[in-house]
Amino acid sequence: IVALRGVHKSFGALKVLDGVDFEVQRGNVLVIIGRSGSGKSTALRCIDRFETIDQGEIVVCGHRVHDPRLNLRALRQDIGIVFQSYNLFPHLTLEENIILAPCSVKGVSKKQAREQARLALAQVGLEDKLHQYPEQLSGGQQQRGAIARSLAMQPKVMLFDEVTSALDPELTGEVLKVIEALAADGMTMVMVTHEMGFARSIADTVVFMHRGKVHETGPASILSAPATPELAQFVGAGF
Ligand code: ATP
Ligand code: MG
Repeated sequence: IVALRGVHKSFGALKVLDGVDFEVQRGNVLVIIGRSGSGKSTALRCIDRFETIDQGEIVVCGHRVHDPRLNLRALRQDIGIVFQSYNLFPHLTLEENIILAPCSVKGVSKKQAREQARLALAQVGLEDKLHQYPEQLSGGQQQRGAIARSLAMQPKVMLFDEVTSALDPELTGEVLKVIEALAADGMTMVMVTHEMGFARSIADTVVFMHRGKVHETGPASILSAPATPELAQFVGAGF
């Protein structure tokens, strides 16, 4: 459902992705790990076409993302993305945040969008926070709200980029639980995370990025038995 083949991307003279290949099957969870600067976020951003690539192919739900004739709007309807922070519009309530895109992009009626918002918020355990503004919510609640906003668009794939790394440890668990439930529900996901225990429990596939390359990849068990010294060092470093 998501495939990267021979993807290259540079920022000026800096080669950030150096021939990246990976694939995610429908209903599977792929977790990307690696040191700071190894290209994890860039890889995610290329999937959603926030960045264009220099060489290679990216196909997502049948959309040829590398193709200049790509229908960007159609691509973005199939993908939900949640970042580390600043996901919700501060001047809108949670409900307004959630119904905005369904109403404006998909042309869903307000009534129907509100119903979808309620369902999405129930999925993340925030059904009682409908009319709160982001600043009235904890960081963990804001991230769950951001996930609900993505879910309301009924994406086929969810991308998560270190969604818990700005959170206090006691708030991390509630967000990871929501992601775990989504995975159990069959959502296809590509996730960048530093939560190794979580990666081990949720990943169907782990991709270890190192210097812009997929240095090692395999099932979650590679985290316990790395084949390369670089992954061994990364895992051992306690990330
Ligand atoms: P982290 O774990 O710190 O989030 P990462 O693996 O996500 O790291 P990327 O954000 O993909 O790393 O960045 C990879 C490299 O590309 C870094 O050296 C970064 O400085 C550089 N880079 C990223 N975005 C840009 C940009 N828009 N312009 C120039 N350089 C960039
Ligand atoms: Mg990053």
